[in-house]
Amino acid sequence: MSILNLEHLGKIISISDDAKRLLEGPEKEISFRLDLRLDRGLICFDSYAVLFNGARGPAKGGVRFAPDVTLEETRVLAELMVYKTALVGIPFGGGKSGIRFDPSEYTRGEIDSIVKEYVHMMRDEICSGAYIPAPDMGSGAHEMAIIYGETHNSESVTGKPVEVGGLPGRREATGRGVATVAIAAAGDLLNKPMDQTTVAVQGFGNVGSWACRFLSEAGAKVIAVTDITGGAYNEDGIDIQGLSQHIQETGALAGYGDASITNEELLTLDVDILIPAACGHVITGENADQVRAGMIVEGANAPTTREADEILRTKDIPVLPDILANSGGVIASYVEWRRAKSGSITKIEETYETIDSLVLESLKNVTKLAGKAGAPYREAALALAVEHVIKAMTARGWI
Ligand code: NAD
Repeated sequence: MSILNLEHLGKIISISDDAKRLLEGPEKEISFRLDLRLDRGLICFDSYAVLFNGARGPAKGGVRFAPDVTLEETRVLAELMVYKTALVGIPFGGGKSGIRFDPSEYTRGEIDSIVKEYVHMMRDEICSGAYIPAPDMGSGAHEMAIIYGETHNSESVTGKPVEVGGLPGRREATGRGVATVAIAAAGDLLNKPMDQTTVAVQGFGNVGSWACRFLSEAGAKVIAVTDITGGAYNEDGIDIQGLSQHIQETGALAGYGDASITNEELLTLDVDILIPAACGHVITGENADQVRAGMIVEGANAPTTREADEILRTKDIPVLPDILANSGGVIASYVEWRRAKSGSITKIEETYETIDSLVLESLKNVTKLAGKAGAPYREAALALAVEHVIKAMTARGWI
């Protein structure tokens, strides 16, 4: 099922029947198996790649390593990327790929062999530039360096380590975008100075930890943070640096500070800004009615279900959607790709400046359309993004 609710979007923008047919499903899906004989024996991993829509440019999207990767999930994530890249105006389409395995059960050397086999199977898509991978859950800069090494082309992959053409600021890019959107939207919606604004963040990985850091630097009080191991609560504001150090030393968030909090409690806290930054489908038809936050800023992909969206709408709780709020990572990927093409040098300030300006411009456009159409932010953001994709498909003679 498409992530688009064409009936709702059709009330905001005009979508022809041909456009609907083209947007309804992916252009290309590949299912393949990675078969490797390792020292431990033969392994066979189901793998998928989806190039959803390339009207605006090559399919851009991460490579996920997780034991629950499915073709359906890969398709949804690829479709999200189509609209994320369109909304912020970078010249990419949307794609995603995934390998169904748990990387924590394999050694560094084994994972390197798995990535090399992945490149072997995806060589046509990656080497032609039709699909440009990046890190996603379970994969990181090291794996991107292996892909780069296998393709000998710096443009073929983003999210590489800085030492081999990676971008200064890529690591914190998504969290930076989340914080920038949260601060700007809070200014519009909450009518409070930042130093009186409270924040709760689910997930303290790449996205959550950097969002916490940038929000704290802006003066906000992050009063609750959880991860898969547990949670910390402090109504005076959590010391984010202290928390990061605790996780570095113990490997878990659980046990930090004097008061703990569960994931369920965090989602229903009375805070100004709630940031789900862990995994999908955590705010659902079951718990949305208990959400008390002033606004939600989606750090994770698809953390709010359709049922929850409807409930939050009736409660007047604005949701700044994933395709806007977590677009900082793909914006940084664009800067890295552009730099690889030109061979120029980029400073961290340029990365931050590009993220901030593109997300703020998009927030402005989304806010304007949401106000004009009386629609929630997600619908307005998708309407703008779909409009850009339709214009590109029209320009290319597909419609
Ligand atoms: P990560 O693996 O670095 O961190 C995930 C965090 O979530 C960890 O702290 C983990 O303990 C926690 N977590 C996992 N399952 C949980 C659960 N059931 N309850 C509570 N906490 C849980 O991942 P990340 O890169 O920070 O990505 C987080 C989300 O943001 C994902 O949905 C990802 O698709 C999305 N996203 C990431 C990026 C990026 O650049 N990293 C870009 C866009 C979107």
